Amino acid sequence: MTAKKFWTAGGQQLHKPVMFAPAFFLASLFMGGPADAGTIKSVTTDHDKVVITFDDVVNKASVFGLAGPNRIAIDLVGATVGGASPAGGAFKNVRQGQFDPNTARLVLDLDYPAKVGGGSFSADGKTLTLSVIPTTAAGFLDWLGLGRKDFDPPESFRSKKVSQYEVTAPIAKAGSMRGLPKIYGPADARLPLVVIDAGHGGHDPGAISPHGGAREKDVTLAIARATRDELLKTGRVRVALTRDGDSFIVLQDRFGIARKMKADLFMSIHADSAENQTARGGSVYTLSEVASDREAQRFAARENKSDIINGVNLGGADVNVSSILIDLTQRETMNVSAGFAKLLLREAEPNMVLRGTAHKFASFIVLKAPDTPSVLFETGFLSNADDAAFLTTGAGRQSVARSISSAVQAHFARRVAID
Ligand code: ZN
Repeated sequence: MTAKKFWTAGGQQLHKPVMFAPAFFLASLFMGGPADAGTIKSVTTDHDKVVITFDDVVNKASVFGLAGPNRIAIDLVGATVGGASPAGGAFKNVRQGQFDPNTARLVLDLDYPAKVGGGSFSADGKTLTLSVIPTTAAGFLDWLGLGRKDFDPPESFRSKKVSQYEVTAPIAKAGSMRGLPKIYGPADARLPLVVIDAGHGGHDPGAISPHGGAREKDVTLAIARATRDELLKTGRVRVALTRDGDSFIVLQDRFGIARKMKADLFMSIHADSAENQTARGGSVYTLSEVASDREAQRFAARENKSDIINGVNLGGADVNVSSILIDLTQRETMNVSAGFAKLLLREAEPNMVLRGTAHKFASFIVLKAPDTPSVLFETGFLSNADDAAFLTTGAGRQSVARSISSAVQAHFARRVAID
């Protein structure tokens, strides 16, 4: 597994593993038997704690939350599944599974919203105790939006044998993937990589403004470029654009590029249009199989049509990514995406007009990378005169770019703070 370094506010570098790819992609990639590992002896659960014991040292525990239904998942690196894990306390159910030859995964179904407040390994590294704190439904969502929290055994009681593997298997790559785009920013592969996707392009103009005729594909490219420049000013992230010209890219290739480049964050930029010209304001969309409202559903349906030109489906008809949505990795990615969406709205609020309910969920093809946190930023309505004026001027673009840059910085700072 590759280790990436993320920056902290103080400039200190920390190691952070990249997320797992879905188990079923991994299954065929492993060779040989399991690595040297401790076996789970017991799992006991209570209202205020979870205690896991092992018969030998392990390498690491990584804890994260999952919603719908609410669960706490614990990846135990350097461990294999073993002893009984009866349900109890805050948990209705406790399941064990061998996620890969080197990692046992515990999934604990919550009886009521609760989060892991902290935890530690015993001095001999063979017992992990996690504190469990009841919270509200909203508090649970906030917690899982923070992503994984890792716990390490004491250095001298840590399993050393962690199998090295790297997963590059892309899901259903459609169309031609020409050379990957240029990476801007410091030549330091440890810095997070943000891939910005200017929506539409080439023969697909997207929405066209009735107020002056601005085309969405030009507006999104100008915002993407301004965002790249703003992000580069921080010196703390690397940036790539899926397109830096007026070219057409099928939807699967847009997130495919982000996955191939091992992006840490993917953002697709769009501008909407509506028959009702008073509709205005930006919103942030994250992936869900169930649309949050009819507007979100219609918007997703329109955007997903980008690949269908003159009745020809350019994205390929056999791409069925929705089946992978049940995978825990995708759910975890969706949680982190939702966390970033919240940050983006918080940072955008002083700078631009937003919709009343500005975080929406819908099934966008472009957001379906299973392991890359992804959002679609719908920056405003080209059908609204004020929004169109805002989005087509340098000052407006700057406001959008600054909002994104602040949110990106807060996002990666937070991802470090919880590790
Ligand atoms: Zn669009």
